[in-house]
Amino acid sequence: MRRVYLDHAATTPLDPRVFEAMLPLLREHFGNASSVHALGRKARFAVEESRERIAGALGAEPGEIIFTSGGTEADNAALRGLHRGERCGVVTSRAEHEAVLRVAERLAAEGVPVVTLTPEASGAVRPERVAEAITDETRLVSLMHANNEVGTLTDVRAVAEVCREKGVAFHTDAVQTAGLFRLSVDDLGVDALSFSAHKFYGPKGVGALYVRGGSDFRALIEGGAQERRRRAGTENVAAIVGMAEALALALAEADARLAHVADLRRRLYRLLREALGDRFVCNTPLEDEASAPHILNIAFPPREDRPVDGEMLLLNLDVEGICASSGSACTSGAVAPSHVLLALGRPPETAAAALRFSLGKDNTEADIDRTVETLAAIVHRMVGAP
Ligand code: PLP
Repeated sequence: MRRVYLDHAATTPLDPRVFEAMLPLLREHFGNASSVHALGRKARFAVEESRERIAGALGAEPGEIIFTSGGTEADNAALRGLHRGERCGVVTSRAEHEAVLRVAERLAAEGVPVVTLTPEASGAVRPERVAEAITDETRLVSLMHANNEVGTLTDVRAVAEVCREKGVAFHTDAVQTAGLFRLSVDDLGVDALSFSAHKFYGPKGVGALYVRGGSDFRALIEGGAQERRRRAGTENVAAIVGMAEALALALAEADARLAHVADLRRRLYRLLREALGDRFVCNTPLEDEASAPHILNIAFPPREDRPVDGEMLLLNLDVEGICASSGSACTSGAVAPSHVLLALGRPPETAAAALRFSLGKDNTEADIDRTVETLAAIVHRMVGAP
């Protein structure tokens, strides 16, 4: 059975061209980038060349790129590293990834003033709301570029403008958009930006944090002098090289990839409506530029007071070879409704019956057609015809 993979917001397959670029670093050039001998120098060269390529792709300076173990660490490092000082408050939103939310909660418990905004029903946080939330205590605003569950885009430029006027730093989690859009840190106006290679056909366990100016930052992980003392630990050289290659390929192919996933999402939505009518609600805003085009989140509200089991939908799809995702997190054996959908005001029974399809460059129209056909049959079996 051919598998249909529609979970690219969770992770993407490694591009074979990226794998090829990584291999020499895993085989012959295995040195530690801190060693002075020839093998070490080769590794150092590979790390710094990758840093230059990545910085160039984002319109940043190489010294502004700090390599991390992925998006989670980059988000943690941004919140912990940028909020310090007397003026230490943080403004964020309830729809952020846990990598931001959990740290914000921890900072609040440590006495940092934290404001957690509730987004609109679309998932967007309006720049005016950010302006209202900033006080004399605020040091940092952290809002994600695209939400990983529903795809909603934040107007990063407008929020950056607000932050600049108020003199506070602005971090954006761009894990879902780096490698999808051509991002320029100056055009966006951000002070810090997180991204992760495995979301754009690079390896897992590597990412980076861009920090404007590069220096006004306290390390999250301390130890050796790597990353100019901003992130200790022996560099994962092959992964860093893979990330640079994956980003270069993503940007070279960005127009085609974007048009492709946008076409497939339109097809997916149209066929779902044809097959299931108004049996589902759409949680992703589909207007132009309102969401990242690779994500479509739908949910099945209860019918005649009978809730729909989102996990059962997902498992039934899996049995048929279709990989999708629900927003729900499985905590201590119980499935909790998605915190994002709850923050967007969806009732808990609807939030617990959500499916997220996230599309990638290698998906085909046939993948979409098979998914809709299969889902429609499952829904009819589980909850009756529309
Ligand atoms: N932020 C967002 C928006 C994400 O979607 C993810 C991954 O799902 C992360 C952060 C965490 O990234 P990583 O898996 O590289 O730790």
